[in-house]
Amino acid sequence: MTTAGRVTAAMGPIALHAEGSYSDREDYDVPDSYGTDKLRDSFAESSSYALGASWVTDKGYIGAAYTRQDAEYGLPGHSHANGVCHLHGYPFPAPGRIDLHCIGHGSYQNPLDNPDSDTARIDLRSERVDLRGDFVDLLPGFSSVRIRGSYTNYQHDEVDGPILCSRYKNEVWDGRIELTASPARSERCGRRAIACLP
Ligand SMILES: [Zn+2]
Ligand SMILES: [Zn+2]
Repeated sequence: MTTAGRVTAAMGPIALHAEGSYSDREDYDVPDSYGTDKLRDSFAESSSYALGASWVTDKGYIGAAYTRQDAEYGLPGHSHANGVCHLHGYPFPAPGRIDLHCIGHGSYQNPLDNPDSDTARIDLRSERVDLRGDFVDLLPGFSSVRIRGSYTNYQHDEVDGPILCSRYKNEVWDGRIELTASPARSERCGRRAIACLP
């Protein structure tokens, strides 16, 4: 099931925008020859929405938007069979020899004590704020001003049954302001356009 909607409105010089979507998919159907009618853990659920506002003038606009995304989806067919794989080094009698194998013994045992039948899934969340502006003839000597900025906060969890196996987090800031010198200014100031006073 997927649903989506959006709405835009204006109040004087302010433009508002909102949109959202939601999708929820059950496990896939598979042919009977798989020995089951559903592919276990192939489900996926996601939602996103965005809210934005812009201030619009006769010289351009500046606006900001907030976007949020959430998703949870299964990892079909996961297995702990390789969780026990480990390396051995042999200082003696064969220095440099390294063995990798996937048979448990001694202290090398499956690190997860929950069964393969537990659901393994990804749970992710992303938040983002964008700032954007474009103006013409806003500042003397410059034909245009362009403003771009964003902040992203992303996180996803890898979960196996009751166990949080790993968590990835990422935070990114990005920003840029571009001033384009007007032709008259470029001619007078050459490549020193920004440092050159009016
Ligand atoms: Zn071993
Ligand atoms: Zn598992």
